[in-house]
Amino acid sequence: MAVALRLAMRASIPLLMGLAACIAPDQFSSREEESPVSRGSSPSNSRADAGGAVPTGGDGCDVSTDPFDVGRIRADVTLLASPALGGRSPGSSGDVAARAYIEQRFRCLGLQPAGEGGSFQLPFTNRAGSATANVVAFLPGNDTIVGSEIVVLGAHHDHFGTLGDKGLRLGANDDASGIAGLLAAAQAFKQNPKAPRRTVVFAAFGSGVSLQDAPFAEGAAAYVGSPPLRLPTSRVVMMVDLDGIGTYSAKEKLFVTSGSRSNSGSAAVARAAGLKLSNGRPDDSKPSDYYPFCDANIPVVVLSTEDPDCHRKACDIAERLDYPHLAQISRVASDATRDVADSFLDLRGLLSSSFLEDCEFK
Ligand SMILES: [Zn+2]
Repeated sequence: MAVALRLAMRASIPLLMGLAACIAPDQFSSREEESPVSRGSSPSNSRADAGGAVPTGGDGCDVSTDPFDVGRIRADVTLLASPALGGRSPGSSGDVAARAYIEQRFRCLGLQPAGEGGSFQLPFTNRAGSATANVVAFLPGNDTIVGSEIVVLGAHHDHFGTLGDKGLRLGANDDASGIAGLLAAAQAFKQNPKAPRRTVVFAAFGSGVSLQDAPFAEGAAAYVGSPPLRLPTSRVVMMVDLDGIGTYSAKEKLFVTSGSRSNSGSAAVARAAGLKLSNGRPDDSKPSDYYPFCDANIPVVVLSTEDPDCHRKACDIAERLDYPHLAQISRVASDATRDVADSFLDLRGLLSSSFLEDCEFK
């Protein structure tokens, strides 16, 4: 649907939970560009060689530990953004290794694989011809009425890798930080003795980042367009996107943008998530994995921290991230996702309103 035909509605929302009063709504600092997707081939061909060996680093399989332990979140980012993984460009051996690491964590946490045949990896080929995959797990909802409704918590596992003469881009904040938050949240959900009312999907998307004017969010688009059989897109009531949440100290702000088909829906979803809705209009935007969900008229909430010095640059390395706040933001995202999953609001009913969204939030 043409963006020009959309009615725009967007808001930045300060979070009440966790980060309390110091957080103000603001704008995203940059953007990633648009894209279709081709799907189909296995991630084991093309440039997806090597891999195999599952890197070690985090300790997220010990569910007796604090899921938001700063040390483990640091370990996850440090491993994913290590030079050994080469910046995790789609189809590379580092991409394969990162996916194996995420899959191992989902598996040892006892989450259910989203793919057929017990697979956590949902392969697709991006438009550049690189075979990669989304790594997706889920926790079934236990409510007899809304248990089949789905809340998706997502981040992208890839980054640029080597950019010709510009050198290596390791993508610690973009988006190893989001994946670390995703893994922490997955552990928190498993540690909660009570299953969520709604089904919760934990999605590590491939091909989320791209150069200007190149496709972006290809993995998320592939997921939305061809979801797992047990997890139809028509049942998704909300998507929470973690993209670059490790640089809070740079601006001392957590940027939270929400969008949905209707103002009332967005407000209700925000309430359900324990978020306070306030008016705000970003001057610029950063479409990412949330975009295909928004484009499918699914409400989204996007969490991000501004990275004015190193966004997409060679200096986006693990050593410089703000881990205490990354852990705190991960907890906020997890709690918000949990609150939506357990909400007694009629979230599907809210989807039927007629407002349409400008998913670029600009
Ligand atoms: Zn990103």
